[in-house]
Amino acid sequence: MSRPVFATVDQQALRHNLAIVRQAAPGARVWSVVKANAYGHGLARVWESLAQTDGFALLNMEEAILLRDSGWRKPILLLEGFFHAEDLELIDRYRLTTSVHSNWQIKALAEAQLSAPVDIYLKVNSGMNRLGFRPEQAQAAYKKLRALPGVGDIMLMAHFADAENPDGLIEPLQRIERAAEGLDIPRSLSNSACTLWHPEAHYDWVRPGIILYGASPSGDWQDIASTGLKPVMTLNSEIIGLQQLSRGDGVGYGYRYHAQQEQRIGVVACGYADGYPRHAPNGTPVSVDGVMTQVIGAVSMDMITVDLTPCPQAGIGSKVELWGEQVKIDQVAKAAGTVGYELMCALTPRVPVKVI
Ligand SMILES: *Cc1c(COP(=O)(O)O)cnc(C)c1O
Repeated sequence: MSRPVFATVDQQALRHNLAIVRQAAPGARVWSVVKANAYGHGLARVWESLAQTDGFALLNMEEAILLRDSGWRKPILLLEGFFHAEDLELIDRYRLTTSVHSNWQIKALAEAQLSAPVDIYLKVNSGMNRLGFRPEQAQAAYKKLRALPGVGDIMLMAHFADAENPDGLIEPLQRIERAAEGLDIPRSLSNSACTLWHPEAHYDWVRPGIILYGASPSGDWQDIASTGLKPVMTLNSEIIGLQQLSRGDGVGYGYRYHAQQEQRIGVVACGYADGYPRHAPNGTPVSVDGVMTQVIGAVSMDMITVDLTPCPQAGIGSKVELWGEQVKIDQVAKAAGTVGYELMCALTPRVPVKVI
């Protein structure tokens, strides 16, 4: 007697999306970004479907070890590098590639007892002012790293703040050029938005995340509609209750919705404790029995209410898609004032996941 809410993760869609990434960046190798438990899909569940990738990029040591223990022998990149000098012992033992974004990390590398050289991603601050060396510091950092016996290959890495924008790379690429001046070093710069829309930034290794899962880096589903990317995650449930409203009747907490006329509504077993966004307003798209309709009333912890006017045949047990093939996760996210990334990552552990 399980509650009818469940998610699916489509392995075929993952393989397909990785193939689309390869077509989009034919000259580059691919780091498949699987941080945050593979964007909420479950790293243990998905990594084999992405095994055609050249490497996996993530940021928790636990996730890296899970991959190694599962038999993944190819590269693993720690996107945020190491957090404490002691982490170098595991980086060495598990043969991980690490980003280096601060001088203290270079010092730690110099002092570490490593069994073999570790490959490094030298992170340059492209202007986003999160992690990384400023362009004028990058060459000194490179020279220090290059002189260390514990350092193997060095790659220049940067990330962009505004890659969705057609002009968003102009200044950041200038800063990266300044950092790389006189250095003969390969580069890894491109997130999903660059992988799709900025071939000038592909260089040696691209680092797509969100497009592997079939959602848009811009937050707008239309922007990837012609790419052939397929949604990997669906969130599904069923109608578990029905109400017939009269004009003026209120619905749910705060009576946030009032019926304008006679109206039939359905109660769906899915709420914010499942990862459905509590900020989803009246009008957020949802499908019932394959018919598009909308959320009405406040999202509760365990339930939402939906308009059944467009689907009069619907009743108890009717299938509901919260997001997936038909209702794009980007559309739900946009309505709720967030991005598909957040919704995927916020799927809660109480939702059973079926791998298909
Ligand atoms: C998360 C992340 C990516 C992937 O970003 P998407 O927008 O999901 O493609 C790439 N590089 C770094 C450094 C990241 O942190």
